[in-house]
Amino acid sequence: MDENRFQRMVEDIYEMFKSYGVTKKEIETRLRLLLFEFKVPEEEARRTIINGLRKNYNIPRVDLKPALAKISEIEPNKWVSLKAKVIQLWEPNSPIISQTGLIGDETGITRFVVWAKANKTRLEEGKCYLFEKVVIDEFMGIKSVKVTSASEIREIDEQIEVKEELRELEVVGALVSIQQNSGLLQVCKICGRTVKAGTCMEHGKVETTDVLRIRGVLDDGEKIYDLILDEKVISSLTGMGLKEARKLAEEHLDRGVVLLELKKRLLGKYLKVKGEIRFRMLTVTSAEFYRPKILEEVEKALKEVEA
Ligand SMILES: [Zn+2]
Repeated sequence: MDENRFQRMVEDIYEMFKSYGVTKKEIETRLRLLLFEFKVPEEEARRTIINGLRKNYNIPRVDLKPALAKISEIEPNKWVSLKAKVIQLWEPNSPIISQTGLIGDETGITRFVVWAKANKTRLEEGKCYLFEKVVIDEFMGIKSVKVTSASEIREIDEQIEVKEELRELEVVGALVSIQQNSGLLQVCKICGRTVKAGTCMEHGKVETTDVLRIRGVLDDGEKIYDLILDEKVISSLTGMGLKEARKLAEEHLDRGVVLLELKKRLLGKYLKVKGEIRFRMLTVTSAEFYRPKILEEVEKALKEVEA
């Protein structure tokens, strides 16, 4: 463990105890002893010191801010504090959610939700924050960090290296859903997010550019995948590229027509897609229509020929 990391750990524990008169020196001495003399693993050393200080200073557990946790060790229904980087912001699909997306640290990534009622300042992609008193929730096996009105968030001046999960994948499944923010879209020239009435959620009034994009859900019978199809993939499946989409929208004086047309051609269809999974989102690099019963069809045709 390098000195920087050590000092940060001291700092983290000091934050929890400073209002009780605990000194930094005291924490540092104990921590050095545990880590370097007794070779206690980091997390155990942290726990030991926190519990020891709590006893010495008679501090009830509930009065302490939850200890800093790593994303790999969060558990449902537990209150924790986390230092994490905002990796992606997604468009919330409900007015009760103010922000949602993915945060990560050096041990992994997780979804997060900031409730609108929590009334917090807006998080920005790529920035690092200390999330204090957040609660972990689990739904259908997927954990997420919930920011409530009891939580505190502040930006921190640290660079967190996020552990990326990037792997290539080939899946066959049905395109069971196409989200409303698909089709011919106006996006912010700076961040690429959809712009509503010329205004980007993060950048205000901005210059926009047109993109053809589908955000959808693919179901392979066992798992579902959030996926993104770009213009190239959409065009290879439907023959409709950006140019054709613009033309269609102009003819009907309505961009919504493009989405309707794409839904008509792709929704419910079986696709064989290749792509990259990154932070749970499958970015499709190529796709083709797939007939799940093609073998049966071939057998049937052969029998008919023989008969
Ligand atoms: Zn923007």
